Amino acid sequence: MDLGFIGLGKMGFPMARRLVEAGHALVVFDQRKEAVDKLVALGAKAAASPKEVADRAETVLASLPSLQASLEVATGTGGVIEGKMIKRFVDLSTVGSHMAVRIHDLLAKRNIVQLDSPVSGGVGGAEKGTLAVMVSGPKADFEVAKPALDVIGKVFFIGEKPGSAQTMKLANNLLSATAVVATSEAVVMGVKSGLDPNVMIDVINAGSGLNTASRDKFPRSILPRTFDFGFATGLMVKDVRLCLEEMKALGLSMEVAEAVGRLWEVVMRDMGPESDFTSAIKPIEQAAGV
Ligand code: NAD
Repeated sequence: MDLGFIGLGKMGFPMARRLVEAGHALVVFDQRKEAVDKLVALGAKAAASPKEVADRAETVLASLPSLQASLEVATGTGGVIEGKMIKRFVDLSTVGSHMAVRIHDLLAKRNIVQLDSPVSGGVGGAEKGTLAVMVSGPKADFEVAKPALDVIGKVFFIGEKPGSAQTMKLANNLLSATAVVATSEAVVMGVKSGLDPNVMIDVINAGSGLNTASRDKFPRSILPRTFDFGFATGLMVKDVRLCLEEMKALGLSMEVAEAVGRLWEVVMRDMGPESDFTSAIKPIEQAAGV
């Protein structure tokens, strides 16, 4: 049975490649023809639009960079909603629960099931197939999609309530966003007083300060000053804003989340949306004069 895959970017490409390598017949589409061509060279089949993917596959996965892109690909003109064969749309993107419910409701009118399936673990996790995959939607459709999702990572069924996997993902990403800026502040404080940042990270990773920024982002991207971890500042800010909206909708006001949100808006302003999110340390260094 053919599977579909739309959105072959930093995350989508390695996920789709793993599916092809695992023996799935994959029909793919991306606005960037070069990404489609690279995957066709590995054995996938090309489609000319999201609709065409959904004409040829019962299960269509997508990994897209914005809420608008997910909405258009799912429900716009030429979207999967017009496909002849599609039964379920598996959105691996982070869109927040409000947008996930909107897409769910529009697809339901055409009897297409949405499996809301955001992922965590970065480009490295997508390449190795070690992502955390959080899924909400009907259990029976989850069981159908699970063998494909098993290829991209460790799969968690969050619940049947539409959008609940997005809430899980935003809780996770609030912690990831916090780890980057909090660890940057801690290291910049040390550097300002004369400590060696390499020694600091070694100590933090052996001590109780250990977190995903100290363990992964500092050694691979921040300490070598390559700033190429593979997640754009604009996407991190999207997730932090979505998390704050989610809290507001729940009637919550949370101090750490709001401070982290303000700091990421500064990173967005100073570094731009296309910068790698590990560049968040730069405005913190600048403010500290180091
Ligand atoms: P990306 O910008 O690298 O890739 C997005 C891809 O979608 C691009 O290839 C683009 O050409 C394509 N695209 C955009 N609009 C399209 C459309 N209308 N039709 C077809 N193709 C379209 O983004 P990414 O970093 O791969 O992130 C994708 C999603 O995964 C986002 O929701 C992001 O928040 C989430 N995510 C990213 C990471 C990460 O580390 N990069 C980690 C976890 C989750």
